[in-house]
Amino acid sequence: METINPWAKALKLLDDAAALITLDPLLLKTLSAPDRTVEVSLPLRRDSGEPALFTGYRVQHNSLRGPYKGGLRFHPAVSMDEVKALALWMTIKCAVIDIPMGGGKGGIAVDPKQLSLAELERLTRQFTRKIADVIGPTRDVPAPDVNTNAQIMAWIKDEYGRVTGKAAPAVVTGKAIADGGSEGRNEATAQGGVYALLAYLRARGMRAQGMTVAVQGYGNAGRIAARLLAVEGCRVVAVSDSQGGCYFPQGIKDLGEIERVKDETRTVRGAMGMTISSEELLALPVDIVVPAALEDSLTESIAADFKAGIVLELANGPTTLEADAILRQKGVAVLPDVLANAGGVAVSYFEWQQNMQAEHWTKLEVLDRLHAKMDAAVAHVLQAATRYQTSLRQAAYIVALESLRDRWSGPAEAAATSARQEATAQA
Ligand code: NAD
Repeated sequence: METINPWAKALKLLDDAAALITLDPLLLKTLSAPDRTVEVSLPLRRDSGEPALFTGYRVQHNSLRGPYKGGLRFHPAVSMDEVKALALWMTIKCAVIDIPMGGGKGGIAVDPKQLSLAELERLTRQFTRKIADVIGPTRDVPAPDVNTNAQIMAWIKDEYGRVTGKAAPAVVTGKAIADGGSEGRNEATAQGGVYALLAYLRARGMRAQGMTVAVQGYGNAGRIAARLLAVEGCRVVAVSDSQGGCYFPQGIKDLGEIERVKDETRTVRGAMGMTISSEELLALPVDIVVPAALEDSLTESIAADFKAGIVLELANGPTTLEADAILRQKGVAVLPDVLANAGGVAVSYFEWQQNMQAEHWTKLEVLDRLHAKMDAAVAHVLQAATRYQTSLRQAAYIVALESLRDRWSGPAEAAATSARQEATAQA
């Protein structure tokens, strides 16, 4: 399997798209390094009394469009370079989906499944204390990502309030409703992905009804996506998680049964039909593949054997650069991560807006706004793909870079123009 440094991969995607448009080289240089990186050590006394040591990260990539925004990942593979890449992708994503936020990301290199709930809380609270001076409602707003959830957000919100001496629900998003969360946030990433897929299919004169789907990853993004795609009339034939998956070619009629097995055994492996590996799932003869696990799962060798016509990237960075090139050659439509999973950050932004204005919107209102955002983003990306005769991924980066370019040079140019007009009028 190819191994590529995630940050090098993110920079390559950025550079390739930037080469297609006119961009101030200083803006490209600015985007080629995060505004700020924070690394903290997190010593923890285990419940047993044993000492342990973890490392936490927060990366603030760029705030041209607004406060930094991005999830926190608790996973053993978390590293500074991974967090930097994910933060850059957040800058791109916020611009594609057109919300006034910048890109950030963070995490702790830890396997939370090896910790007790009390240990996880102590670790999270300590992490919060150590990054409290760089986060905040108008500065940098974390959210859930892999292995983090509303409970973890509640601890962060509470600890941040203690450190700063004032309650600030808008310091994190992805909170429980009772804690200031938004309706629809839980399913936002999956729902946004489904809206994006439907908008894409509509533009191509296709329908979701009857299409077969394989979903890799059965967490917040993948599990809910499987359910929502079934609602749209797709036939979900395979699902998997970190332990493996199951394949039922006729289509899994009862996703509730899979959910029950997952909740009881902590895996969907062998839940129904044939037992398959997560890699085998990606190469199944289906219409749509949905990677919703981790980076670089769709590799060159899988791409060579790829049979689906559409990839809906709910995970961040699931396709390697080599695989991406092969899929493009094969004519596979890849709805890229920075577009397909942007529903998560869109509704995070809605949650932040509600907190800042002390409002609570109905689920219908949230989903309507999400739907409109996803439809507009898909339309912009399709237009750019046509205009530049390029892939949807490069087109999404172009849409984002053009928007960042407007923020970058717009005010300066506008000021210069009005000064020139004034001088002309006076002459
Ligand atoms: P999660 O922790 O809820 O779920 C992750 C799932 O991936 C789990 O089912 C896990 O078992 C599975 N997994 C891990 N390794 C795997 C492997 N090798 N093969 C198959 N499955 C594997 O995380 P999530 O929030 O659903 O995030 C999944 C992806 O979506 C990540 O890339 C994340 O960055 C991205 N994403 C999430 C959100 C969000 O709002 N949650 C938003 C945007 C993007």
